[in-house]
Amino acid sequence: MPPITVVGSINRDLVLTVEDLPRPGETVLARGFVEGVGGKGANQAVAAARLGSRVRMVARVGPDADAILRALAAEGVDVGAVRPAPESTTGIASVVVDRAGENTIVVNPGANAELSVADLPQRLARSAGEVVLVQHEISAEVVAAAVLRAREQGGTVVLNPAPARPVAPEVLAAVDVLVPNLGELATLLGAEPPAGPDGARELLELAALPCRAVVVTLGADGALVKQPGRPAVHLPAPVVDAVDTVGAGDTFCGALADSLARGADLLAAAERAVRAASLAVTGLGAQSAMPSAAQLDAAAGPLGAPAPLPDAT
Ligand code: ATP
Repeated sequence: MPPITVVGSINRDLVLTVEDLPRPGETVLARGFVEGVGGKGANQAVAAARLGSRVRMVARVGPDADAILRALAAEGVDVGAVRPAPESTTGIASVVVDRAGENTIVVNPGANAELSVADLPQRLARSAGEVVLVQHEISAEVVAAAVLRAREQGGTVVLNPAPARPVAPEVLAAVDVLVPNLGELATLLGAEPPAGPDGARELLELAALPCRAVVVTLGADGALVKQPGRPAVHLPAPVVDAVDTVGAGDTFCGALADSLARGADLLAAAERAVRAASLAVTGLGAQSAMPSAAQLDAAAGPLGAPAPLPDAT
């Protein structure tokens, strides 16, 4: 199976749990604190690695990242192309979660903002069809260079345009599979966020994007797959007891990349990604709730119906 290259962010996640989110000017005491590895790039790399893919990351971290790099390597992620940014600190996401699961997040991009075009390996896709997965927590210039280079080298380019920001048409034209959520889709099309699967379907039919295919994630409604010349297909999510949706989108993208790297067609890959992400929302945290291949296989059931919970391992 060809490896996957993820070009993206690595963050130190600092997660504080509180009773109620503080109002402006207010100080509250936390009930708990957990530190972990996050960032959309690292999360998606771990999601794919946990499903059995060989994954390498292209990223930058500060001199304070030894434990983070060890944790990623322990997940099987190749961190050989992660470069140090000696003058910077590793990106930080400060997350505050209240008892209802509502959160506020402040991100300091740190070393992620230092990732430059010169940091990209000459060969991003080392063989035809190799999946190159990119997100928006790095500069638009690096995203554009990575997408265009990977495409030129015959790679299968997957772009998760999160957080939302516009993408140049020539960059979109080099993307094989674009994976936005509803808000990100609206930003790309300069439209109001569509309501649910039908709204997304209408928007996609009306305003064609220049990329080859689009997979819109719809939260509890699953995903919508639009391929050229075919009507959009809605894949409902299995009905699960959602505990924490943090990392759902990252699990989706990592699982999609894993299946595409194994040669699955887009619909089959999106269906497995819907299942993987629906399992991820049944556990707390982002990476901690991402399923292994065995857990995902064990949870196979009809879409739109209750999925059995995986064994905790
Ligand atoms: P996040 O930013 O929280 O990671 P996102 O906005 O990028 O998420 P979503 O569309 O919310 O992405 O969710 C991604 C996928 O996760 C969905 O396509 C679906 O498969 C799964 N999912 C999310 N929420 C639920 C839920 N409540 N029940 C079942 N599956 C869900």
